[in-house]
Amino acid sequence: MKILVAMMSHETNTFSPVPTPLDRFGSGHNPAEGKRAYQGAAQGSSTMAGMLQVAEQVIERQGGEIVTPLLAGAPPSGPVDQEAYEYMVQRICEAAEGCDALLLDLHGAMVTERQDDGEGFLLNKLRDLYPGIPIGVGLDMHANLYPMMVENATVITGYQTYPHIDMFETGVRVATALFNSLEGRTTPTMVWGNAPMLPHVMRQGTGDFPNGELQERVRELEAESIAVSLFTGFPHADISNAGLSVVVVTDNDEQRACEIRDELLELAWSHREAFVYKLEPLAESVAHAIIAREEPGEGPIILLDHYDNTASGGTMDTTEVLREILLQGLEDVAVFGIHDPAAVQQMIAAGVGSEITIDLGARYHMQALQEQSTPLTVTGTVKLVSDGRFVVKGPMSTGARMNMGATVVLDTGNVQIIVISRHIEPFDLGCFYSLGIDPLEKTYLMLKSRIHYRATFLPIAKKVIECAGRGVCTSDYNQLNFRNVRRPIFPLDNINSDSFKEGFPVS
Ligand SMILES: [Zn+2]
Repeated sequence: MKILVAMMSHETNTFSPVPTPLDRFGSGHNPAEGKRAYQGAAQGSSTMAGMLQVAEQVIERQGGEIVTPLLAGAPPSGPVDQEAYEYMVQRICEAAEGCDALLLDLHGAMVTERQDDGEGFLLNKLRDLYPGIPIGVGLDMHANLYPMMVENATVITGYQTYPHIDMFETGVRVATALFNSLEGRTTPTMVWGNAPMLPHVMRQGTGDFPNGELQERVRELEAESIAVSLFTGFPHADISNAGLSVVVVTDNDEQRACEIRDELLELAWSHREAFVYKLEPLAESVAHAIIAREEPGEGPIILLDHYDNTASGGTMDTTEVLREILLQGLEDVAVFGIHDPAAVQQMIAAGVGSEITIDLGARYHMQALQEQSTPLTVTGTVKLVSDGRFVVKGPMSTGARMNMGATVVLDTGNVQIIVISRHIEPFDLGCFYSLGIDPLEKTYLMLKSRIHYRATFLPIAKKVIECAGRGVCTSDYNQLNFRNVRRPIFPLDNINSDSFKEGFPVS
């Protein structure tokens, strides 16, 4: 038995100006291959790690080998460089020769400079080259599904939590399903469909209605099937198939698979209004934060700069929320973070302990937006310099090695601003602790995040205040010029039909 396990993962924000070269897939280096890929994945809790665990058990039973041509996962950003994409596809395709099973940890929302469906193209190529090999695919809940993915895979499973704390389990589920079929215990039959809706990312958390209830129903239905996944989709991708979709795999029962798919799509469609996000002006939100200080309760108040979330392709360098925090005079604030490698170097040159006045942020031009961010001039003390490395404590991506790049803490007196050189989402307390800041002791934390912060910061927070700043993850769809997504689609278009099916093809 020869089993291939590989990761090629990127969530592409087609509105993002942040480039996606090959070295973004390996934390500043080219992605790991071979033994290094194996070791790198085995240390973490990714879908690939879950796949490896199951594959190892199979090899123990039957003998053989596992090949790991690629461990490539890049933080969300703009379309993937075509050359980088083709290199990764080639690595996987070459290594697949002579394999009995392929297990792929993909995202499902990868757009390249030339392909809207990066994953589908890879899977199609694999099927062309090696028609008989079973392929198991694990996808993120933010996958934007295309027919080519489903037609060229044997089993697909997706995350059922957001924040994503079940990546490992997703890998275990898909690998187990694939080997059950390979060893003749099941005959997977897979169907899929989508609904004409773009659920708002800020309304997709599984701690909230409706996605919590939807995923609960997914798990119930999965108990009688091989795999059931409801993808809420990633709306900041202007491609035809962005949005909500469902994949169902049953044991040789296509009719039941279609029934389950339609039940879930109808259920999601009936809750479409609850997936719409309501906006509040920034100045009002920050003013609420001042009042919240007097309210009873323990822990920091979180100001969520959700228009500029790096884990959705944000530049992480817009300054509007931080500017408002300084303007309204909030005290005892820690900010994670501003991405500005040039400012970091300037502050390192000034040295720890020195006072500096510096222009911070707004380095990227955001072509997709009419209004740009502007640099913020701040005066503060360079409090700490770090290489920006820490290990994630979890519960999300437990054990992952993070690299913020050269990092500086700039202290204005009221606000400690963490300035970083590599894009990292604050989803783990380590991004503060590793820099000598105790997040539990702060009155306020400003986080450039949308939902992932919830995994660790929500349990310690007194209150969360969502702040409409500026950025390519804007929560205001009116700021984006959608040209390619299929129309009509809710809520860009007002659709009043009771069923998702009325007038809309299933796929
Ligand atoms: Zn996701």
